[in-house]
Amino acid sequence: MIASTHLAVGAASALFIQRYVSTKDEYDVVKKYLFGFGAAIFSHMVLDSIYHLEYSLQGQALTSCLVVEFILVSMVLLFGQKNPVIQKMIVLGIIGGALPDGLYFVSLFTGWNWLLMVHDLLHVTHGMLSWLYANYFVQVLVTLLAVFYVRIKFRTA
Ligand SMILES: [Zn+2]
Repeated sequence: MIASTHLAVGAASALFIQRYVSTKDEYDVVKKYLFGFGAAIFSHMVLDSIYHLEYSLQGQALTSCLVVEFILVSMVLLFGQKNPVIQKMIVLGIIGGALPDGLYFVSLFTGWNWLLMVHDLLHVTHGMLSWLYANYFVQVLVTLLAVFYVRIKFRTA
């Protein structure tokens, strides 16, 4: 699945889960952030469980593509967002959405094999829903829907 989909759906999930998070008072934001982060990681697993087309790029080209996607999607989601709590929620959602795949890259650079094990654990559902198929068009469409959800539902004047 392309990074943009994971990043945008991660952010959307972090915000969406908030309607089910009850807090004692409005300043109890740590619980909200934790649930937002968890929801974003979970969204990665749900998305990856759909049988999908992967990048055809490799090496330097793939790295460049991921960096560009990360910057673009972060800007599109965060630009003009004035609510500091929603800002943090979006950032946590982006990180949580990227984390399961990010662990793979961090393990490459650090040589920490335990990260690969966590990566594999977070991908146990990978491609499980073989009766569904997400080509690039579907992935971009889902990305746009998630971006619209974040931008329209959580807009600040
Ligand atoms: Zn993944």
